[in-house]
Amino acid sequence: MSEKIWLSSPHMGGNELEYIHDAFDANWVAPLGPNVNGFENDIESFLNADVKVAALSAGTAALHLALIECGVEYGDEVICQSMTFSASANPIAYQGAVPIFVDSEPDTWNICPNHLRKAIRDRFAKGKKPKAIIVVHLYGMPAKMNEILSVAKEFDIPVIEDAAEALGSTYKGQACGTFGRFGILSFNGNKIITTSGGGAMVCHSQQDKDKAVFLSTQARDEAPHYQHSQIGYNYRMSNICAGIGRGQMEVLDDRIIARRKMHKFYTELFQGIDGVSVFTEPSDDYFSNHWLSAILMDPAKSGKTREDLRLAFLEDNIESRPLWKPMHLQPVFANSPYYGEKVAQRLFNEGLCLPSGSNLTGSERKRIERVVTKFFTKS
Ligand SMILES: *Cc1c(COP(=O)(O)O)cnc(C)c1O
Repeated sequence: MSEKIWLSSPHMGGNELEYIHDAFDANWVAPLGPNVNGFENDIESFLNADVKVAALSAGTAALHLALIECGVEYGDEVICQSMTFSASANPIAYQGAVPIFVDSEPDTWNICPNHLRKAIRDRFAKGKKPKAIIVVHLYGMPAKMNEILSVAKEFDIPVIEDAAEALGSTYKGQACGTFGRFGILSFNGNKIITTSGGGAMVCHSQQDKDKAVFLSTQARDEAPHYQHSQIGYNYRMSNICAGIGRGQMEVLDDRIIARRKMHKFYTELFQGIDGVSVFTEPSDDYFSNHWLSAILMDPAKSGKTREDLRLAFLEDNIESRPLWKPMHLQPVFANSPYYGEKVAQRLFNEGLCLPSGSNLTGSERKRIERVVTKFFTKS
């Protein structure tokens, strides 16, 4: 059996262990320390915007704290892109709030501004003002931020940007994660850079950051003893994980170049194959880190389904994966309202994510190419 080719696997830069050694030498083996502060500063400079960053234990934790800081409470409603990973929506349920799911639009696969407006109007008509809008930059592709922000402004609802997959992506030259009231990032093992597990909140004031750090360290009031006047969480990033993050930030630019090269590889590979389209930026306004390259396969035109291709890859020990199954089609969210048509559903039925790691070798690309060529020439 050939060695497994993963969809997206960790890719160390080389200096991660040095930062971890520093942490051990100074005995900063704790959920705070110089690597945490250093990592936050590195991300702030990288985002190149007037933002503050709080390093946390996970992207999911960052989303949870963003909802709390937006005042989301039991029984409130929060709008969320349906086409996404469950971690975008789960924190809404943690708060006892109700997710209102909205369809995607076909250019970016992200939340459709028109259906977003319709959803908000209808919630208002039903007597509820949504407390926040969660927008996702799927697979690194920036959402239509100008239109989304203008809808959000029209109804005075804060935007939370789930940029877990989009570190390094920009829209009209501005970094994804810096547009909303809050942005969140993830450094899980499969993301463009990793801390083995971790995340961050991006915000626009020291006050918002301080609040996130306070809540992430068990909400301790100022006192010599342990005093609490609200519920806290254990969500801060450890100084060891942040050490990995500092090493990874040194190579982030290279990782973006490598992922975009994988996207170019697929664009060329699928050129001229009927019924297959590679997910690509709709215009120069969009710059995707191409965290994952993905295709749509129209069975009517290609005569084959994305499941056929997935199985052909699997036979050669190559991992590929259907796109995220929309949240409004998930059993756990079956009772949540949904606004839209069937764009997200069609994407799920026809879409496949392909191996996209920055560490894939030339011979691994050759193996991928062989499977694809054989698959599409065989009738
Ligand atoms: C990975 C991911 C998250 C969650 O991040 P964790 O760090 O794994 O908690 C949230 N949203 C999206 C879209 C993701 O891909």
